[in-house]
Amino acid sequence: MSIAEQIVRIKRELPQGVELLAISKYQPVDAIKEAYDAGQRMFGENHIQEMAAKAAILPKDIEWHFTGHVQTNKIKYMAPFVSLIHAVDSFRLLREIDKHAARNNRTIDCLLQIHIAQEETKYGLTKDECRQLLANEPWRELQHVRIVGLMAMGSNTDDTVQIRSEFHQIKQLFDELKECYFSDTPTFCQISEGMTDDYPIAIAEGSTIVRIGSMIFGERQTT
Ligand SMILES: *Cc1c(COP(=O)(O)O)cnc(C)c1O
Repeated sequence: MSIAEQIVRIKRELPQGVELLAISKYQPVDAIKEAYDAGQRMFGENHIQEMAAKAAILPKDIEWHFTGHVQTNKIKYMAPFVSLIHAVDSFRLLREIDKHAARNNRTIDCLLQIHIAQEETKYGLTKDECRQLLANEPWRELQHVRIVGLMAMGSNTDDTVQIRSEFHQIKQLFDELKECYFSDTPTFCQISEGMTDDYPIAIAEGSTIVRIGSMIFGERQTT
């Protein structure tokens, strides 16, 4: 199936309220253009300079999402245009993003990344660390970042019971935080989870943004 056919097919399958983020990391500009011509407008990248280079030459109505690990010294390259930063996992990082957003006269939407999968990784907050961040840090004082939800990666496993349980825990945490901190904030409404291999489970468990790469573009040259 071509890139355009995949875009159309996946979009047709998604229930209302779930958006498709096409993960275009390592994909050439021509491939992104084909998805764009098929109607796709939200693209996700994992490297800030690669995203900035693509944004500079592709149509201006693309919404660029940053889904990779954020290096503080590179925030400046995406602050002028990024529409959602998915993987924020510390107050320090929120504060840095706020600083660069202010310089660009913008408010940048962010998701808190929750580490829920079985694999060891240094990225992402545990559920308790996330609770502590919201309870103890002065995030409400940051005028130029807006926390709009949570992001997670499921375990890399065929065990669908495990994956479902992880996404279920994210939804429970989301509901808890919504009630404690964001009950008057309708913009806190996003759960970014689900990739090529597990997005149907993610949707069933409450995902609002699925991040799909290889199913659309085929295998990547690098990962
Ligand atoms: C690469 C990547 C994806 C897409 O993965 P596929 O399995 O190719 O769909 C989604 N989210 C993040 C954070 C990624 O790094």
